[in-house]
Amino acid sequence: MKVRTRFAPSPTGHVHIGNMRAAIYNWLFARHHGGEFLLRVEDTDRERSTPEAIRTLLEAMDWLGLGFDGEALYQSTRMEAHLAAAETLLEKGLAYKEDKGGTGQGECVVFRMPGKDVSFDDGIKGTLSKAAANMQDFVIVRSNGTPVFHLANVLDDIEQEVTHVIRGDDHVENTFRHIALYEALGAEVPKFAHLPMIVNAQGKPYSKRDGDAFVGDFREKGFLPEALFNYLALLGWSPGDDREVMAREELVEVFTLERCQSSPAQVDLRKLTWMNGEYMQKLPAVEFEAICFHALGKEGIDPEPEYAQRVFALVRDRVKTVADIAPMVGFFFSGDFSYDEKAVEKKLRKEGVRGILQQVKALFEALPAFDEADIDRTLHGFVEQAGLGFGAVMPPVRIAVSGQQSGPDLAPLLSVLGRRQVLERIDRTIGAYLQD
Ligand code: GLU
Repeated sequence: MKVRTRFAPSPTGHVHIGNMRAAIYNWLFARHHGGEFLLRVEDTDRERSTPEAIRTLLEAMDWLGLGFDGEALYQSTRMEAHLAAAETLLEKGLAYKEDKGGTGQGECVVFRMPGKDVSFDDGIKGTLSKAAANMQDFVIVRSNGTPVFHLANVLDDIEQEVTHVIRGDDHVENTFRHIALYEALGAEVPKFAHLPMIVNAQGKPYSKRDGDAFVGDFREKGFLPEALFNYLALLGWSPGDDREVMAREELVEVFTLERCQSSPAQVDLRKLTWMNGEYMQKLPAVEFEAICFHALGKEGIDPEPEYAQRVFALVRDRVKTVADIAPMVGFFFSGDFSYDEKAVEKKLRKEGVRGILQQVKALFEALPAFDEADIDRTLHGFVEQAGLGFGAVMPPVRIAVSGQQSGPDLAPLLSVLGRRQVLERIDRTIGAYLQD
């Protein structure tokens, strides 16, 4: 039997990472088994499922590299088939008509639960059962003639020949009804696996209020799709050892439902940021540079390429997300940078700093060349000869030329920035902050 999974989102204009995680698990499961991963767009809510919302969904999948097999099935195109199936159930006495509100506005079609206990073997949660007494008949076609989610969802899974339904555990209750529907429709019941929720630190469903929750947010903030994919794959699943940064092929190879955890998974954005940094560092230099150029371009900076490449190499192992780049390197491209006020107060506006900067400046002026090794030697020599700590010298120099308290190693930074800029900036900083 060929494994067929599907992602069946209802487009709303935003793609929550919880939904995307379900898509990723379906994708990994299908790829692991050499099966197919299908897309079904549950777009029957015409108000929310706008073309724009559908585009957002497809873009998010594309960005994450979640290719699907064949054509997407749009649920809204299947209404006739859904209604025909309801008709058949009526004919067979497996459903009945009822005027629910008793308002005479029309009758809906109600599915008759078979009056027996239902149980199934969930791929993640184990055996789940529900007693007949706790399950009531339910509406499958509204009085306005539109099919209800349960009917449409089950019929479309049958149509798409889905073998494994992997979805959020908010659907567990529905599954008992869905199984009854499959049986009534004479279709084979697929395997189900219900993923535990993604939660915040308080154990409540993770939402926008807790931080970025939509795929688009992460994209905008400069996360790499490979990193988000890897992070979401590990949010509720583990390879069984301590591997964390895992290439997609590696994930495909080892992914199994048995290793999905059955308790809720807690979002940890710091871990995602760390992971993104790992992916940034693994990028080939040309790709990293292209990302940097693009990030600067968005800020209206069009740098001279050779100089820019030297700058990018300096921050290469400090960049965690694309969004870090422009703030981290902006000062290399414009003298008009802002000063970190806290750093100025703590490290710059201090007794003796003016003198230190003036002496360092004089030493820099006197250097025959302004390369990294000479700068380094000069700074070390000065610290020693003046009987000062590094902490008294390096931070003021760094702040004077960059406005920032931290950044790449100082000597290479100064050398790339160039002597003229360094001297000018030291002067300007003294003028701005260290006049008597
Ligand atoms: N459209 C439903 C949802 O997004 C489908 C659930 C499913 O069967 O996967 O919750």
